[in-house]
Amino acid sequence: HLDRIAEVDPAVHAFLHTDAENALATARQVDQDLAAGQAPASPLAGVPVAVKDVLTTEGTPTTCGSRMLEGWLPPYDSTVVRRLRAAGLVILGKTNMDEFAMGSSTENSAFGPTRNPWDLDRIPGGSGGGSSAALAAFEAPLAIGTDTGGSIRQPGAVTGTVGVKPTYGGVSRYGLVAFSSSLDQAGPCARTVLDAALLHEVIGGHDPLDSTSIDQPVPPVVAAVREGATGDLRGVRVGVVTQLSGEGYQPGVLRSFHAAVDTLRELGAEVVEVSCPSFQYALSAYYLIAPSECSSNLARFDAMRYGLRVGDDGNRSAEEVMSLTREAGFGPEVKRRIMLGTYALSSGYYDAYYGSAQKVRTLIKRDFDAAFENVDVLVSPTTPTTAFRLGERVNDPMAMYLADLCTIPANLAGNAALSVPSGLSDEDGLPVGLQVMAPVMQDHRMYRVAAAYE
Ligand code: GLN
Repeated sequence: HLDRIAEVDPAVHAFLHTDAENALATARQVDQDLAAGQAPASPLAGVPVAVKDVLTTEGTPTTCGSRMLEGWLPPYDSTVVRRLRAAGLVILGKTNMDEFAMGSSTENSAFGPTRNPWDLDRIPGGSGGGSSAALAAFEAPLAIGTDTGGSIRQPGAVTGTVGVKPTYGGVSRYGLVAFSSSLDQAGPCARTVLDAALLHEVIGGHDPLDSTSIDQPVPPVVAAVREGATGDLRGVRVGVVTQLSGEGYQPGVLRSFHAAVDTLRELGAEVVEVSCPSFQYALSAYYLIAPSECSSNLARFDAMRYGLRVGDDGNRSAEEVMSLTREAGFGPEVKRRIMLGTYALSSGYYDAYYGSAQKVRTLIKRDFDAAFENVDVLVSPTTPTTAFRLGERVNDPMAMYLADLCTIPANLAGNAALSVPSGLSDEDGLPVGLQVMAPVMQDHRMYRVAAAYE
């Protein structure tokens, strides 16, 4: 994989840093332990993995795709990374991302965009475009992403790979640099559903260091994949969400989606249509809640505590240094979110914007609850279009935000959702993703369906 990275990453730019020395040392250690007759630490011992650069890694850079954290070396491992190491996985390096995970194309990275291995003129999705591109370019067999509004699933869909957003609280957020704490969720990225499940079981489970971590065992996702792999979905009820298809979706994406639904039916699933009327407000609610939490979370980048400090010449006040640093360290999208969020939270506007958005969030959750009384999983396209061209949406934030139309409801409600490849669009030959959503802590249900479909 290191050779492959050296060969293709100058063009793809999936990685921000690689750590060949440590990777080889870990791999050698795993080999030695096995040769000495020791049992492997996990089924994935010795398997390489790429980690999104928003999760802290002790002693190696963690930039979040931002100049703000350039040169910062975290003093501790995130829980996800600690679990990867304990399970014997080999960390290849850190992957590129939109700055602080804000974006849908990886073009908001301060270190240049990642390109889609299927067509280097196209985006790999975002914010975790680096992780998914690394898989699609065969630079890594496994990767970790984070999904606040779709940043694991949408890159998975447009690169033809699998991306899973576990139930909120199913994977620890300790050491995940916060964007929107009530939405952020780390999860597995892989080329097959089984690989994703194996990785899910390594990183998932309760963590006392994260107060929102669910104190329950990891859902039995590997067993669910084995069950699904028999290709028998008899007895499973699948709901097609009325609101997540139709106008604004590429015809090639819709045809792929309908073909996928036909396949589920052929595998024995009972398919019904389900209406979730509040989903149409999800994007609007998200773009109030996520920026609000962002404006609060990113206040910690104050030029004093981490990374960049600009203009500290001994004559300037702390406030001036802070302002110069934030001006230089944050890119335009991050500034836009901080301003939006500060506005939405300000006195006199709080009820009208943030308060209303939280009410919409409750309605979306109720739609999910009602739907899951009748069906086991819900399905939709993962994203309305295939990979768009680099530069096409950079000057149009609204167009960029629409990439997450289908993925955001699951973040707002906190339930589990994944994207599994559903072939290539007959319009442009690019990958399309099928989204499968499951109730809170029923992640295994969507794995079973995805494995049968795959
Ligand atoms: N594209 C969405 C945003 O820009 C989602 C990002 C994410 O999931 N991290 O906020």
